[in-house]
Amino acid sequence: MSNDLVIEAKGLTRLYGDGKAARPAIDDVSLEVKEGEFVAVLGPSGCGKSTLLGILGCLDRAFEGSLALFGRDTTTMSDREQAKLRGTKIGFVFQAFHLLGHLSARDNVLSPTLFVDHPPDGDLGARAEELLAAVGLAGRGDDMPATMSGGERQRLAIARALLMKPPLLLCDEPTGNLDLETGRNVTDIFQRLHGEGLTIVAVTHEEMLAGAAERTVRLRGGRVVDEAEGEG
Ligand code: ADP
Repeated sequence: MSNDLVIEAKGLTRLYGDGKAARPAIDDVSLEVKEGEFVAVLGPSGCGKSTLLGILGCLDRAFEGSLALFGRDTTTMSDREQAKLRGTKIGFVFQAFHLLGHLSARDNVLSPTLFVDHPPDGDLGARAEELLAAVGLAGRGDDMPATMSGGERQRLAIARALLMKPPLLLCDEPTGNLDLETGRNVTDIFQRLHGEGLTIVAVTHEEMLAGAAERTVRLRGGRVVDEAEGEG
């Protein structure tokens, strides 16, 4: 395994259904992502994007093929080891935001500390404020998610995903619930984070987001059809 590969996936296949009814949601997908790359996986609804992202994020281990993250084979890890890897090395951003509605914006940003054994050192309160400012939500820490617009909620979700300083950000249709301008705004944030060295993989059906990435992998019917360099 090469050291600068953050993701090294080979021959990923994921079947849903049993016996004769089994169908591959993704079929023999291989993907390499280098440190610092911004890769978009582009394809229409149902082509297997969420399935692929779930496997890459160690949210689903019922697949065939091999997956190494940060040079480590994930298939031989225990569930606990995978959870630790997820909690410390991967930030997730989802289409539906998945914010905690009973917590303020600030406490949503801080919420990843609830799921790890050893929260990172340093002043997390100050880091939360920095992250809120970085996504254009300075001074909004006391706001509740229900009072925020879709774009604001997604920017809050991005701030939360970055709290633990993960080297990898995995995004599932992050602009899917946003109008064009708001989606562009969120895309700009990804480009800035990419410029700062973060490795980003975003699955999307939106050409605009894919156009911002450095590289696009096209998925159709669960298979990679071609790859193209983007403009980002
Ligand atoms: P996308 O994210 O591109 O919309 P998905 O990965 O969600 O695609 O789905 C790929 C295929 O797998 C689709 O045909 C979908 O119906 C099927 N699929 C996804 N999740 C499940 C599941 N839990 N059980 C059965 N089929 C599923």
